[in-house]
Amino acid sequence: MAYKITEDCISCGACEPECPNEAISEGETIYVIDPDKCTECVGAYESSRCADVCPVDSCVADPDHKESREQLQEKYQRLHP
Ligand code: SF4
Ligand code: SF4
Repeated sequence: MAYKITEDCISCGACEPECPNEAISEGETIYVIDPDKCTECVGAYESSRCADVCPVDSCVADPDHKESREQLQEKYQRLHP
């Protein structure tokens, strides 16, 4: 399940360098996560780095992007051949 960033984002930028897949970027008003690149940190870390560092808890799992752990692992391998 890819993560998304909620409207509570204060655009502090803390999450962007933490993502192992460069899935996070600055959007027009808040930071955004590219669901094609987010692996929920599967393949790199034990927990979701963006959620770990966000000071306002605005990095959350996106129920619109349900994926199994196997799919997330495959995505990670595609992104890091
Ligand atoms: S959960 Fe991990 S892979 Fe997904 S956006 Fe956050 S830091 Fe990047
Ligand atoms: S760490 Fe949280 S508040 Fe800061 S830019 Fe990322 S999502 Fe927004």
